[in-house]
Amino acid sequence: MDKKTAIITGGSRGIGRAISVELAKSGMNIVINYASNEYAAKKTMEESLREAELSGHEGIKIITVKGDISDSSDCEVICNVAIDEFGRIDVLVNNAGITRDSLAMRMSDEDFDAVIKTNLYGPFFMMRQVAKPMMKQKFGRIVNISSVTGLIGNAGQINYAAAKAGLIGMTKSLAREMATRGITVNAVAPGFIDTDMTAALSEDVENSMEDMIPVKRIGSPRDIASAVRFLVSDGAGYITGEVLRIDGGVAI
Ligand code: NAP
Repeated sequence: MDKKTAIITGGSRGIGRAISVELAKSGMNIVINYASNEYAAKKTMEESLREAELSGHEGIKIITVKGDISDSSDCEVICNVAIDEFGRIDVLVNNAGITRDSLAMRMSDEDFDAVIKTNLYGPFFMMRQVAKPMMKQKFGRIVNISSVTGLIGNAGQINYAAAKAGLIGMTKSLAREMATRGITVNAVAPGFIDTDMTAALSEDVENSMEDMIPVKRIGSPRDIASAVRFLVSDGAGYITGEVLRIDGGVAI
């Protein structure tokens, strides 16, 4: 059988980078999507290839594809490039996401819109695109990167919480639509993870976050990537419509 192919949106940095490395180590071909930072995407490609080789999977291929997932035609291009290059799409990780935080009473229409477009429309556009090839193959694994904010809310993130909660609703609906087709659709809900997205927070805020986390440490991108690797594996075929919290216990 051909190697499996995974598309990772926002696969160039942070959690997406760790997922790229982890799936490459499991022997998959990878399509790393990114929005603008080509240098980061190429760096992730090199790191993933190196790690794959060290894991005995030197035959894999990785490509980088620039595209804005909030634009449905870009999503079509990303998926067409994957099919042209590899002939199949087995795994979609909807990872790309942004924040535009402020208290609800001060939030602009633009900030609300931008987060909904990238974090909710984007995954929808991508899932709609991959549904057809996955149904044809009678196999697919979709993992949506939500957030604990989508489960318990967060002051200053009304836009982000709405998108991430909506993503969980989409996950469960598509899981039901695809259940008889060999396609599973799951979500993971990370807590506070050390990436560029959270780097802007002051040391004081970080320390107080750490205090609130039952396991008393901030998560690493690898904590998320190892769970994604499991959810896209053959062994996870009976898990669908699930939301896996990976948050050190924050939302227990
Ligand atoms: P990050 O470090 O800011 O990286 C974001 C990635 O998404 C980058 O690769 C970026 O590409 C890409 N991206 C942004 N907008 C895009 C768009 N419109 N189209 C295509 N790609 C786009 O973020 P992260 O912390 O790794 O977060 C990854 C996911 O986990 C997000 O969905 C986030 O909401 C979720 N999450 C994160 C945390 C956390 O604590 N970090 C917690 C819960 C959930 P460029 O580099 O080209 O801009």
